[in-house]
Amino acid sequence: MVENVLLAEPRGFCAGVEMAIKALTWMVQVFEAPVYCYHEIVHNAVVVRAFEDAGVVFVDDIAHVPPGRPVMLSAHGSAPEVVEEASLRSAVMVDAVCPLVTKVHHEVKTMAKKGYDIIYIGHHGHDEAVGAIAEAPDAARLVDPRDGLGEFDARDTEKVALLAQTTLGLYEWEGVLDDARERFPELWTARRGDLCYATTNRQTAIQQLSNQSDLVLVVGSENSSNTQALVRVARKAGVDAYRVDGPEDVETSWLDGVSVVGVTAGASAPDQNVQSVIDAIAPRDGVRFLRVTDEDEYFPLPPQLRMLMQTIQALVEGSVACSQPGEKGPVEHDKEFSATSALSVLGV
Ligand code: SF4
Repeated sequence: MVENVLLAEPRGFCAGVEMAIKALTWMVQVFEAPVYCYHEIVHNAVVVRAFEDAGVVFVDDIAHVPPGRPVMLSAHGSAPEVVEEASLRSAVMVDAVCPLVTKVHHEVKTMAKKGYDIIYIGHHGHDEAVGAIAEAPDAARLVDPRDGLGEFDARDTEKVALLAQTTLGLYEWEGVLDDARERFPELWTARRGDLCYATTNRQTAIQQLSNQSDLVLVVGSENSSNTQALVRVARKAGVDAYRVDGPEDVETSWLDGVSVVGVTAGASAPDQNVQSVIDAIAPRDGVRFLRVTDEDEYFPLPPQLRMLMQTIQALVEGSVACSQPGEKGPVEHDKEFSATSALSVLGV
């Protein structure tokens, strides 16, 4: 029988996912269905299903958004043409891109303008990689860390930059980095790298978790890049590790002879799922916590949505249904409102 669950902190929702979930929740509260969303708002099956039930239609082609309908763009970042087309098609376009993804888009544009060839390390077909490379498709080339640098050739070997998807595994792309540094000694990289704080913190936590657990379970969906990276980090540390979306995926045979199960969650997995996985494990002596750091990052709602909400608030307070004019509204209170509360509005 399992004695303990060792629960990683931090785990689950990052600031970018918090922002995106709350933003789409506002959209479904303000507008009549259907509200459209370009790409899955975050890569999590439970979250996506909850929004579909609330009237969100997810599309992979912006042309599938009927003209005039409200549309949100996902947290992973979109190609500039997509942002432009969405603004033209829709009366209300809200871009929920994470600011840390925007930073990488900015690096791609800046380095391309300076005449650099860009090695972008990421996974083929991932929404974030597709959106970032689209900022400078003539200068940026995708290099999958599993394939390595291969025949990558530069126009000017002194002008090569290396950028990366924010959710890669901590060490899995270092082979490409070493190879690139050897071939291009003047290689430019972002000063603190492109892996985001949430990726780094969750992977640091799972490394420690792996050293103290007989088995590690990572809650998150199959198409979540940072979730898959967590599983790889745990396995690299030498422990059996599996990804589960929820309790239904936990196989009883995994728990045979196991006394401590480490549990964590990818950046897009709701904590409700983590709790139900722990319930399924039913540890005899309960849950212990393994905290590696505190996180207090907060990303404000997208500017288009803030402006819309402030306009609605001004209209209501100023004319129609004046409750308390001048009182703080939802935009100012947003920091105290969590994505978990937002999802509970949707019944998750
Ligand atoms: Fe932003 Fe990092 Fe979260 Fe991605 S994982 S949404 S880059 S904070």
